[in-house]
Amino acid sequence: MRIIRDFDLSSFNTFRIKVKCACFVEYESAKELETLDWDSLPQPVRHIGEGSNLLFTGDFPGTILHSCIGYIKYVDMGLDEVPVIVGSGVKWDSFVEQTCRHGLWGAENLSLIPGETGAAAVQNIGAYGAEIKDIISGVVCYDLQERKKVKFPAGECRYAYRDSLFKEAGGRYIVTSVLFRLTRRYRPLLDYKGIRQALCLEVNARPDDLTPMQLREAIIEVRRSKLPDPGELGSAGSYFKNPVVRATDFAGIIDLARRDFGNDVSIPHYINPDGTIKIPAAWLIEKSGLKGSTCGGAAVYEKQPLVIVNATGDACPEDILALESHIVSTVQERFGITLHPEVEHI
Ligand SMILES: Cc1cc2nc3c(=O)[nH]c(=O)nc-3n(C[C@H](O)[C@H](O)[C@H](O)COP(=O)(O)OP(=O)(O)OC[C@H]3O[C@@H](n4cnc5c(N)ncnc54)[C@H](O)[C@@H]3O)c2cc1C
Repeated sequence: MRIIRDFDLSSFNTFRIKVKCACFVEYESAKELETLDWDSLPQPVRHIGEGSNLLFTGDFPGTILHSCIGYIKYVDMGLDEVPVIVGSGVKWDSFVEQTCRHGLWGAENLSLIPGETGAAAVQNIGAYGAEIKDIISGVVCYDLQERKKVKFPAGECRYAYRDSLFKEAGGRYIVTSVLFRLTRRYRPLLDYKGIRQALCLEVNARPDDLTPMQLREAIIEVRRSKLPDPGELGSAGSYFKNPVVRATDFAGIIDLARRDFGNDVSIPHYINPDGTIKIPAAWLIEKSGLKGSTCGGAAVYEKQPLVIVNATGDACPEDILALESHIVSTVQERFGITLHPEVEHI
Protein backbone atom coordinates (compact mmCIF):
# COMPACT_ATOMS: atom_id res chain seq x y z
CA MET A 1 0.00 0.00 0.00
CA ARG A 2 1.23 3.52 -0.63
CA ILE A 3 0.01 6.58 1.24
CA ILE A 4 1.13 9.92 -0.17
CA ARG A 5 0.31 13.39 1.15
CA ASP A 6 -0.33 16.37 -1.15
CA PHE A 7 -0.65 14.18 -4.26
CA ASP A 8 -0.89 15.46 -7.87
CA LEU A 9 -4.02 13.97 -9.54
CA SER A 10 -3.24 15.05 -13.15
CA SER A 11 -2.76 11.43 -14.24
CA PHE A 12 -5.86 10.27 -12.32
CA ASN A 13 -8.44 12.18 -14.36
CA THR A 14 -8.90 11.91 -18.11
CA PHE A 15 -9.61 15.66 -18.42
CA ARG A 16 -5.93 15.95 -17.36
CA ILE A 17 -6.84 18.77 -14.96
CA LYS A 18 -4.00 19.79 -12.66
CA VAL A 19 -5.45 19.34 -9.15
CA LYS A 20 -4.16 17.82 -5.93
CA CYS A 21 -5.58 15.88 -3.00
CA ALA A 22 -4.49 16.14 0.64
CA CYS A 23 -3.87 12.37 0.78
CA PHE A 24 -3.72 9.54 -1.78
CA VAL A 25 -4.01 5.87 -0.75
CA GLU A 26 -3.35 3.11 -3.25
CA TYR A 27 -3.90 -0.49 -2.12
CA GLU A 28 -3.17 -3.86 -3.70
CA SER A 29 -5.56 -6.25 -1.97
CA ALA A 30 -8.92 -6.26 -0.21
CA LYS A 31 -7.05 -7.37 2.96
CA GLU A 32 -5.13 -4.07 3.00
CA LEU A 33 -8.42 -2.17 3.26
CA GLU A 34 -9.20 -4.08 6.47
CA THR A 35 -5.90 -3.03 8.06
CA LEU A 36 -6.07 0.64 7.03
CA ASP A 37 -6.30 3.16 9.91
CA TRP A 38 -9.38 4.90 8.47
CA ASP A 39 -9.78 7.39 11.32
CA SER A 40 -6.34 8.89 10.70
CA LEU A 41 -7.09 9.81 7.06
CA PRO A 42 -8.02 13.38 6.00
CA GLN A 43 -11.77 13.56 5.32
CA PRO A 44 -13.79 13.16 3.18
CA VAL A 45 -12.68 9.86 1.67
CA ARG A 46 -13.45 9.24 -1.99
CA HIS A 47 -12.66 6.24 -4.22
CA ILE A 48 -11.73 6.80 -7.85
CA GLY A 49 -10.72 4.65 -10.80
CA GLU A 50 -9.07 6.30 -13.78
CA GLY A 51 -11.14 9.47 -13.32
CA SER A 52 -12.77 9.10 -16.75
CA ASN A 53 -16.22 10.10 -15.56
CA LEU A 54 -15.12 12.81 -13.13
CA LEU A 55 -14.52 16.53 -13.04
CA PHE A 56 -12.37 17.73 -10.14
CA THR A 57 -13.70 21.23 -9.53
CA GLY A 58 -10.59 22.15 -7.49
CA ASP A 59 -8.06 20.62 -5.09
CA PHE A 60 -9.60 17.82 -3.02
CA PRO A 61 -9.26 18.44 0.74
CA GLY A 62 -9.60 14.77 1.81
CA THR A 63 -8.30 11.32 0.86
CA ILE A 64 -8.50 9.77 -2.60
CA LEU A 65 -8.48 5.95 -2.63
CA HIS A 66 -7.36 3.92 -5.62
CA SER A 67 -7.38 0.16 -6.23
CA CYS A 68 -4.44 -1.72 -7.71
CA ILE A 69 -6.13 -5.12 -7.32
CA GLY A 70 -5.01 -6.50 -10.64
CA TYR A 71 -5.88 -10.21 -11.04
CA ILE A 72 -8.06 -11.95 -13.62
CA LYS A 73 -9.08 -15.53 -12.71
CA TYR A 74 -10.86 -17.80 -15.17
CA VAL A 75 -12.62 -20.23 -12.81
CA ASP A 76 -13.20 -23.02 -15.35
CA MET A 77 -12.28 -22.54 -19.00
CA GLY A 78 -13.79 -25.96 -19.83
CA LEU A 79 -17.37 -24.78 -19.32
CA ASP A 80 -19.65 -23.22 -21.96
CA GLU A 81 -20.45 -20.45 -19.49
CA VAL A 82 -17.10 -19.34 -18.10
CA PRO A 83 -17.05 -17.65 -14.67
CA VAL A 84 -14.32 -15.02 -14.35
CA ILE A 85 -13.28 -13.06 -11.23
CA VAL A 86 -11.64 -9.70 -11.92
CA GLY A 87 -9.89 -7.33 -9.50
CA SER A 88 -11.35 -3.82 -9.34
CA GLY A 89 -8.09 -2.18 -10.44
CA VAL A 90 -7.87 -4.07 -13.76
CA LYS A 91 -8.12 -1.72 -16.74
CA TRP A 92 -11.53 -2.49 -18.23
CA ASP A 93 -10.40 -2.63 -21.83
CA SER A 94 -7.43 -4.95 -21.08
CA PHE A 95 -9.94 -7.40 -19.63
CA VAL A 96 -12.23 -7.08 -22.67
CA GLU A 97 -9.28 -7.61 -25.02
CA GLN A 98 -8.21 -10.73 -23.12
CA THR A 99 -11.70 -12.28 -23.11
CA CYS A 100 -12.04 -11.68 -26.86
CA ARG A 101 -8.66 -13.34 -27.40
CA HIS A 102 -10.00 -16.38 -25.51
CA GLY A 103 -13.01 -16.46 -27.85
CA LEU A 104 -15.48 -15.60 -25.07
CA TRP A 105 -18.63 -13.60 -25.86
CA GLY A 106 -20.18 -10.97 -23.64
CA ALA A 107 -17.85 -7.99 -23.23
CA GLU A 108 -16.90 -7.21 -26.86
CA ASN A 109 -19.45 -4.40 -27.45
CA LEU A 110 -18.02 -2.61 -24.40
CA SER A 111 -14.56 -2.42 -26.00
CA LEU A 112 -12.40 0.67 -25.54
CA ILE A 113 -14.48 2.23 -22.75
CA PRO A 114 -11.90 3.94 -20.52
CA GLY A 115 -11.66 3.20 -16.81
CA GLU A 116 -11.24 0.30 -14.42
CA THR A 117 -13.35 -2.79 -13.77
CA GLY A 118 -14.52 -1.74 -10.27
CA ALA A 119 -15.81 1.58 -11.58
CA ALA A 120 -17.39 -0.13 -14.61
CA ALA A 121 -19.53 -2.19 -12.20
CA VAL A 122 -20.45 0.96 -10.23
CA GLN A 123 -21.40 2.88 -13.39
CA ASN A 124 -23.16 0.02 -15.20
CA ILE A 125 -21.26 1.05 -18.32
CA GLY A 126 -23.00 0.59 -21.62
CA ALA A 127 -22.39 0.99 -25.34
CA TYR A 128 -23.54 -0.36 -28.70
CA GLY A 129 -26.58 -2.18 -27.34
CA ALA A 130 -24.79 -3.84 -24.37
CA GLU A 131 -24.61 -3.10 -20.65
CA ILE A 132 -22.13 -4.58 -18.18
CA LYS A 133 -24.99 -5.69 -15.90
CA ASP A 134 -25.85 -8.38 -18.46
CA ILE A 135 -22.55 -10.20 -17.85
CA ILE A 136 -22.07 -9.51 -14.13
CA SER A 137 -23.03 -12.32 -11.74
CA GLY A 138 -21.84 -10.69 -8.51
CA VAL A 139 -19.85 -7.83 -6.97
CA VAL A 140 -17.56 -8.09 -3.93
CA CYS A 141 -17.11 -4.95 -1.82
CA TYR A 142 -15.60 -3.62 1.35
CA ASP A 143 -18.38 -1.95 3.36
CA LEU A 144 -16.93 1.26 4.84
CA GLN A 145 -19.80 1.60 7.30
CA GLU A 146 -19.68 -1.91 8.75
CA ARG A 147 -15.94 -2.27 8.04
CA LYS A 148 -16.33 -5.75 6.53
CA LYS A 149 -16.42 -7.65 3.23
CA VAL A 150 -19.82 -8.01 1.54
CA LYS A 151 -20.88 -9.83 -1.62
CA PHE A 152 -23.85 -8.80 -3.76
CA PRO A 153 -25.36 -11.18 -6.32
CA ALA A 154 -26.18 -9.28 -9.56
CA GLY A 155 -29.90 -9.27 -8.70
CA GLU A 156 -29.19 -7.17 -5.59
CA CYS A 157 -27.02 -4.55 -7.34
CA ARG A 158 -30.09 -2.46 -8.40
CA TYR A 159 -28.75 -1.93 -11.87
CA ALA A 160 -30.43 0.70 -14.04
CA TYR A 161 -29.27 3.05 -16.81
CA ARG A 162 -25.72 4.12 -15.67
CA ASP A 163 -26.84 3.50 -12.11
CA SER A 164 -26.42 0.93 -9.34
CA LEU A 165 -26.70 0.29 -5.62
CA PHE A 166 -23.03 1.33 -5.32
CA LYS A 167 -23.71 4.75 -6.86
CA GLU A 168 -26.82 5.26 -4.76
CA ALA A 169 -24.97 4.36 -1.55
CA GLY A 170 -22.71 7.41 -2.10
CA GLY A 171 -19.30 5.85 -1.43
CA ARG A 172 -20.28 3.35 1.30
CA TYR A 173 -19.15 0.34 -0.78
CA ILE A 174 -15.66 -0.06 -2.20
CA VAL A 175 -15.77 -2.56 -5.05
CA THR A 176 -12.80 -4.94 -4.71
CA SER A 177 -13.68 -7.55 -7.36
CA VAL A 178 -16.36 -8.31 -9.94
CA LEU A 179 -17.65 -11.75 -10.99
CA PHE A 180 -18.54 -12.18 -14.64
CA ARG A 181 -20.19 -14.94 -16.63
CA LEU A 182 -19.02 -15.05 -20.25
CA THR A 183 -19.99 -17.56 -22.85
CA ARG A 184 -18.50 -19.67 -25.63
CA ARG A 185 -21.93 -19.74 -27.32
CA TYR A 186 -22.14 -17.56 -30.42
CA ARG A 187 -24.05 -14.42 -29.46
CA PRO A 188 -22.98 -11.29 -31.35
CA LEU A 189 -24.98 -8.08 -30.79
CA LEU A 190 -24.88 -6.41 -34.21
CA ASP A 191 -27.99 -4.28 -34.38
CA TYR A 192 -26.61 -1.00 -33.12
CA LYS A 193 -26.12 1.66 -35.78
CA GLY A 194 -22.78 1.48 -37.58
CA ILE A 195 -21.63 -1.99 -36.41
CA ARG A 196 -22.62 -3.99 -39.51
CA GLN A 197 -21.27 -1.21 -41.69
CA ALA A 198 -17.89 -1.39 -39.92
CA LEU A 199 -17.93 -5.17 -40.50
CA CYS A 200 -18.90 -4.66 -44.17
CA LEU A 201 -22.09 -6.71 -43.63
CA GLU A 202 -25.49 -6.46 -45.28
CA VAL A 203 -28.49 -5.23 -43.25
CA ASN A 204 -29.64 -8.03 -40.85
CA ALA A 205 -26.63 -10.26 -41.76
CA ARG A 206 -25.40 -12.60 -39.01
CA PRO A 207 -22.38 -14.54 -40.29
CA ASP A 208 -21.64 -17.82 -38.49
CA ASP A 209 -17.89 -17.40 -38.48
CA LEU A 210 -17.68 -13.99 -36.77
CA THR A 211 -15.40 -13.96 -33.70
CA PRO A 212 -15.58 -11.79 -30.57
CA MET A 213 -12.24 -10.25 -31.60
CA GLN A 214 -13.57 -9.24 -35.04
CA LEU A 215 -16.58 -7.61 -33.41
CA ARG A 216 -14.31 -5.87 -30.89
CA GLU A 217 -12.21 -4.45 -33.72
CA ALA A 218 -15.31 -3.13 -35.50
CA ILE A 219 -16.53 -1.47 -32.30
CA ILE A 220 -13.12 0.12 -31.81
CA GLU A 221 -13.18 1.47 -35.36
CA VAL A 222 -16.62 3.04 -34.84
CA ARG A 223 -15.66 4.52 -31.47
CA ARG A 224 -12.38 5.98 -32.77
CA SER A 225 -14.22 7.80 -35.54
CA LYS A 226 -16.41 9.63 -33.02
CA LEU A 227 -14.74 9.93 -29.63
CA PRO A 228 -11.46 11.56 -28.60
CA ASP A 229 -8.69 9.28 -27.33
CA PRO A 230 -8.13 10.37 -23.70
CA GLY A 231 -4.40 9.70 -24.22
CA GLU A 232 -4.32 12.46 -26.84
CA LEU A 233 -7.11 14.86 -25.90
CA GLY A 234 -8.46 15.23 -22.35
CA SER A 235 -12.19 14.61 -21.85
CA ALA A 236 -14.61 12.63 -19.71
CA GLY A 237 -16.64 11.23 -22.63
CA SER A 238 -20.32 12.22 -22.81
CA TYR A 239 -20.59 15.27 -20.59
CA PHE A 240 -24.40 15.59 -20.39
CA LYS A 241 -27.24 13.11 -19.88
CA ASN A 242 -29.83 12.81 -22.63
CA PRO A 243 -32.83 14.77 -21.30
CA VAL A 244 -36.14 12.99 -20.75
CA VAL A 245 -39.31 15.10 -21.10
CA ARG A 246 -43.04 14.49 -20.66
CA ALA A 247 -44.98 13.87 -23.86
CA THR A 248 -47.07 16.99 -23.13
CA ASP A 249 -43.91 19.15 -23.00
CA PHE A 250 -42.54 17.68 -26.24
CA ALA A 251 -45.13 19.56 -28.34
CA GLY A 252 -43.89 22.89 -26.89
CA ILE A 253 -40.29 21.92 -27.68
CA ILE A 254 -41.27 21.19 -31.29
CA ASP A 255 -42.88 24.67 -31.50
CA LEU A 256 -39.67 26.30 -30.24
CA ALA A 257 -37.61 24.31 -32.77
CA ARG A 258 -39.97 25.35 -35.62
CA ARG A 259 -39.57 28.99 -34.61
CA ASP A 260 -35.82 28.74 -35.28
CA PHE A 261 -35.50 26.03 -37.94
CA GLY A 262 -38.78 26.14 -39.88
CA ASN A 263 -41.72 23.74 -40.04
CA ASP A 264 -39.74 20.88 -41.58
CA VAL A 265 -37.49 20.40 -38.57
CA SER A 266 -37.77 17.00 -36.92
CA ILE A 267 -36.35 16.38 -33.46
CA PRO A 268 -34.73 12.95 -33.09
CA HIS A 269 -36.27 11.23 -30.07
CA TYR A 270 -36.95 7.89 -28.40
CA ILE A 271 -40.26 7.08 -26.67
CA ASN A 272 -39.64 5.30 -23.36
CA PRO A 273 -41.97 2.48 -22.25
CA ASP A 274 -43.54 4.88 -19.67
CA GLY A 275 -44.43 7.37 -22.45
CA THR A 276 -41.74 9.94 -21.58
CA ILE A 277 -39.50 11.09 -24.42
CA LYS A 278 -35.71 10.99 -24.54
CA ILE A 279 -33.98 13.56 -26.76
CA PRO A 280 -30.29 13.30 -27.72
CA ALA A 281 -28.39 16.06 -25.89
CA ALA A 282 -25.82 16.07 -28.74
CA TRP A 283 -28.52 17.17 -31.22
CA LEU A 284 -29.72 19.96 -28.88
CA ILE A 285 -26.15 21.23 -28.39
CA GLU A 286 -25.36 21.14 -32.09
CA LYS A 287 -28.63 22.86 -33.04
CA SER A 288 -27.88 25.54 -30.45
CA GLY A 289 -24.83 26.41 -32.54
CA LEU A 290 -22.40 25.31 -29.86
CA LYS A 291 -20.18 22.88 -31.80
CA GLY A 292 -16.60 24.11 -31.43
CA SER A 293 -17.51 26.71 -28.74
CA THR A 294 -14.73 27.43 -26.27
CA CYS A 295 -14.23 28.86 -22.77
CA GLY A 296 -10.54 29.33 -21.91
CA GLY A 297 -8.88 25.96 -22.62
CA ALA A 298 -12.15 23.98 -22.77
CA ALA A 299 -14.05 23.33 -26.02
CA VAL A 300 -17.08 21.49 -27.35
CA TYR A 301 -15.60 18.60 -29.39
CA GLU A 302 -16.09 19.15 -33.13
CA LYS A 303 -16.84 15.50 -33.99
CA GLN A 304 -19.25 14.88 -31.09
CA PRO A 305 -20.87 17.90 -29.39
CA LEU A 306 -21.81 15.87 -26.30
CA VAL A 307 -18.13 15.83 -25.35
CA ILE A 308 -16.25 18.69 -23.70
CA VAL A 309 -12.48 18.51 -24.24
CA ASN A 310 -9.41 20.03 -22.64
CA ALA A 311 -8.47 21.51 -26.03
CA THR A 312 -5.31 23.35 -25.04
CA GLY A 313 -4.10 20.79 -22.49
CA ASP A 314 -4.07 23.38 -19.73
CA ALA A 315 -7.80 23.96 -19.16
CA CYS A 316 -8.65 24.57 -15.51
CA PRO A 317 -11.85 23.42 -13.74
CA GLU A 318 -13.30 26.93 -14.07
CA ASP A 319 -12.98 26.77 -17.90
CA ILE A 320 -14.93 23.52 -18.04
CA LEU A 321 -17.55 24.74 -15.57
CA ALA A 322 -17.97 28.01 -17.53
CA LEU A 323 -18.45 26.08 -20.79
CA GLU A 324 -20.90 23.72 -19.05
CA SER A 325 -23.06 26.63 -17.86
CA HIS A 326 -22.84 28.37 -21.27
CA ILE A 327 -24.14 25.17 -22.93
CA VAL A 328 -26.89 24.69 -20.33
CA SER A 329 -28.15 28.28 -20.64
CA THR A 330 -27.98 28.36 -24.47
CA VAL A 331 -29.90 25.06 -24.84
CA GLN A 332 -32.39 26.25 -22.21
CA GLU A 333 -32.98 29.49 -24.12
CA ARG A 334 -33.42 27.79 -27.48
CA PHE A 335 -35.42 24.67 -26.54
CA GLY A 336 -36.65 25.27 -22.96
CA ILE A 337 -34.81 22.10 -21.85
CA THR A 338 -32.35 21.93 -18.93
CA LEU A 339 -29.36 19.68 -19.52
CA HIS A 340 -27.74 17.93 -16.55
CA PRO A 341 -24.13 16.72 -16.45
CA GLU A 342 -23.49 12.99 -16.60
CA VAL A 343 -19.91 13.64 -15.44
CA GLU A 344 -19.63 13.62 -11.65
CA HIS A 345 -18.32 16.85 -10.07
CA ILE A 346 -15.98 16.35 -7.13
C1 LIG B 1 -13.55 9.06 -24.25
C2 LIG B 1 -14.53 8.46 -23.26
C3 LIG B 1 -15.51 7.59 -23.72
C4 LIG B 1 -16.42 7.01 -22.82
N1 LIG B 1 -17.37 6.16 -23.31
C5 LIG B 1 -18.24 5.57 -22.46
C6 LIG B 1 -19.23 4.65 -22.96
O1 LIG B 1 -19.29 4.34 -24.16
N2 LIG B 1 -20.11 4.11 -22.07
C7 LIG B 1 -20.07 4.40 -20.73
O2 LIG B 1 -20.88 3.85 -19.97
N3 LIG B 1 -19.14 5.27 -20.24
C8 LIG B 1 -18.24 5.85 -21.06
N4 LIG B 1 -17.31 6.73 -20.57
C9 LIG B 1 -17.33 7.10 -19.13
C10 LIG B 1 -16.34 6.30 -18.24
O3 LIG B 1 -15.31 5.73 -19.01
C11 LIG B 1 -17.03 5.20 -17.43
O4 LIG B 1 -18.01 5.76 -16.59
C12 LIG B 1 -16.03 4.40 -16.58
O5 LIG B 1 -16.65 3.25 -16.03
C13 LIG B 1 -15.40 5.19 -15.45
O6 LIG B 1 -14.32 4.43 -14.95
P1 LIG B 1 -13.16 5.07 -14.10
O7 LIG B 1 -12.26 3.97 -13.64
O8 LIG B 1 -12.51 6.17 -14.84
O9 LIG B 1 -13.99 5.63 -12.85
P2 LIG B 1 -14.02 7.10 -12.22
O10 LIG B 1 -14.45 8.08 -13.24
O11 LIG B 1 -12.74 7.36 -11.50
O12 LIG B 1 -15.18 6.91 -11.15
C14 LIG B 1 -16.52 6.72 -11.55
C15 LIG B 1 -17.39 6.46 -10.32
O13 LIG B 1 -17.06 5.19 -9.77
C16 LIG B 1 -16.65 5.31 -8.39
N5 LIG B 1 -15.60 4.29 -8.20
C17 LIG B 1 -14.47 4.11 -8.94
N6 LIG B 1 -13.83 3.00 -8.56
C18 LIG B 1 -14.56 2.47 -7.53
C19 LIG B 1 -14.41 1.31 -6.69
N7 LIG B 1 -13.41 0.43 -6.86
N8 LIG B 1 -15.33 1.09 -5.73
C20 LIG B 1 -16.38 1.95 -5.56
N9 LIG B 1 -16.57 3.06 -6.31
C21 LIG B 1 -15.67 3.30 -7.28
C22 LIG B 1 -16.18 6.76 -8.26
O14 LIG B 1 -16.29 7.22 -6.94
C23 LIG B 1 -17.14 7.46 -9.19
O15 LIG B 1 -18.39 7.63 -8.52
C24 LIG B 1 -16.36 7.32 -21.43
C25 LIG B 1 -15.36 8.20 -20.97
C26 LIG B 1 -14.45 8.76 -21.87
C27 LIG B 1 -13.37 9.67 -21.35
